[in-house]
Amino acid sequence: MVNSIKFAIQYYPLFKQPLQTMEPINLRSFKVKVSKNKRKMKLFLSRLEKKVPRRLDAIAAEVDKEIWQEVDCLSCSNCCRSMTPTFTKKDTERIAAHFNQTPDEFREKWLYKDKKGDWMNTKTPCQFLDLKTNMCSIYTIRPEDCAGFPHLAKKKMTDYIHVHKQNIEYCPATYKMVEKMQLRFEGKV
Ligand code: SF4
Ligand code: SF4
Repeated sequence: MVNSIKFAIQYYPLFKQPLQTMEPINLRSFKVKVSKNKRKMKLFLSRLEKKVPRRLDAIAAEVDKEIWQEVDCLSCSNCCRSMTPTFTKKDTERIAAHFNQTPDEFREKWLYKDKKGDWMNTKTPCQFLDLKTNMCSIYTIRPEDCAGFPHLAKKKMTDYIHVHKQNIEYCPATYKMVEKMQLRFEGKV
């Protein structure tokens, strides 16, 4: 028990959550909600893009804070299980060095280049995810993309709306953010 608490503290904040009681995420019911509501939510996001409400970015920052009081990423890890981060050159060099590999050896073992030329994980769940604890085994040196995910409180929300549209289907935190934005802007966009 002591060890597991030490482990949790060492890795805190693995994603972004404070150490407090939060409702665990139920991915099964999340998927049901997504299939019911994703179309409306994506339309809402498209309207936000077209008619940007006043104080959108300030409100997004407030909503972001609320979300990390409510969402328990350690009960989820759906991003690490079902999506792949993009590995930048720096990410690859840093992580390869950690494993005493050259960047080429690391790429050959774990990555492929997609059509856009980005380096992605060959497999999901991510090879660095501990499937029992939902923790990232390379947390302190993880790719920048992972560190910023799900990119909710970026300076300009409209630059990330296309990303949120995709992530609604995978990330309960993104879903909750869009729900909260819908409530705040209902009837205004
Ligand atoms: S590197 Fe870590 S945070 Fe990133 S996808 Fe893999 S397990 Fe998740
Ligand atoms: S999918 Fe979203 S809610 Fe789930 S662990 Fe990743 S960031 Fe957290």
